[in-house]
Amino acid sequence: MTPPSGTETAVLSWLAEHESAMLDLVRTLVDIDSGSYDKAGVDAVGARLRAFLGEHGVGFSVVPNDRFGDAIRAEANNRSGNGAAGSNAPVLLLGHRDTVFPAGEAGRRPFRVADGRGSGPGCCDMKAGVVINAFVLAAFARFAAAPSPITALFTADEEIGSPSSKGLIRETARSARAVFNSEPGRPGGGIVTGRKGGKFMRLDVVGKAAHAGNNLADGISAIEEIARKIVKLHALTDLVVGISCNVGTIAGGQTVNTVAPHATAEVDLRYIRPEDGARAFSALEAIVAESNVPGTTARLEITGEFEPLVASDASKRLFEHYAACARALGQSVESMFAGGCADSGFTASVGAPTICAVGPIGGRAHSPDEYLEVDSIVPRAQALALAIMRLDGA
Ligand SMILES: [Zn+2]
Repeated sequence: MTPPSGTETAVLSWLAEHESAMLDLVRTLVDIDSGSYDKAGVDAVGARLRAFLGEHGVGFSVVPNDRFGDAIRAEANNRSGNGAAGSNAPVLLLGHRDTVFPAGEAGRRPFRVADGRGSGPGCCDMKAGVVINAFVLAAFARFAAAPSPITALFTADEEIGSPSSKGLIRETARSARAVFNSEPGRPGGGIVTGRKGGKFMRLDVVGKAAHAGNNLADGISAIEEIARKIVKLHALTDLVVGISCNVGTIAGGQTVNTVAPHATAEVDLRYIRPEDGARAFSALEAIVAESNVPGTTARLEITGEFEPLVASDASKRLFEHYAACARALGQSVESMFAGGCADSGFTASVGAPTICAVGPIGGRAHSPDEYLEVDSIVPRAQALALAIMRLDGA
């Protein structure tokens, strides 16, 4: 593939010149707590991004939400006189502003860089990805270098299954010619081309309270029932076909000397192929419906849901195109499968060619050991920008 020239070089150089500005914005965003349920925090991150977009001539609109953070939809126009294969279908960049961390975490662990690694809550997942999306938009607004309009969504609630964003994501992706999700790149540069789908659920079991000493037989133990259900739920796991079912939290009971009148559990079900997911979910519903301890009742609520990222021919071509652009910049990338779910599943499910994890490289997301390879910020921004600029040749 040909080396960058003309406008391409101008965009790539501009990104390189803004390395310290990118790092500053990563620091600013990491140092704001923005757990998924912290609307004020997620909106504070949004306010900082809106200021950046405004300063760089990128138009945006806000999609308000009462419960979760507002979504931001930003747009940069394409180059004028775009002919060729010239699709006016937009390129979509995805990024979420929320993290899995509680309020106070940013104060305890502010963004730091040591030995080339950044740390702090959400540094790689995915505040650095949000930052490269913002700078790539700014570069395209400045140089009008993109073959198609670019739309970027900065959403609020990916870590809990995007309850408030998935409609907007699907709707925007429907008309997109390509979707890039800037979740963290894998160590070594891996790009994610397949992901599991999944559901987060809450299971509530109701029994009947009774004194555990005086009249045990009058009670109906919700804890015994949920324990029996949990054993069956875990037995749904079949790693050979890529199904996993894990109960991540349990709670219940009243006092040590009372037959438990209620119990709850949170369940995480994941799958690779939609048909396997549907089969596992019906088995799960049967487990919920069947009462092992007579007299108990159970209710299941789906609290979050992700579609799997299933690699289509078009998304495989998009990966090959991205990889060729990265190689033209001296970077090597490979395609990988991930068990973690992401918004890229929603865009793939409506047929948009999608690749994921094009963000700066990092690891150990969702843990205090999360890190960001600071030297990867500019190269990943450049690979993304070049892949967009060369889409007409893809
Ligand atoms: Zn993420």
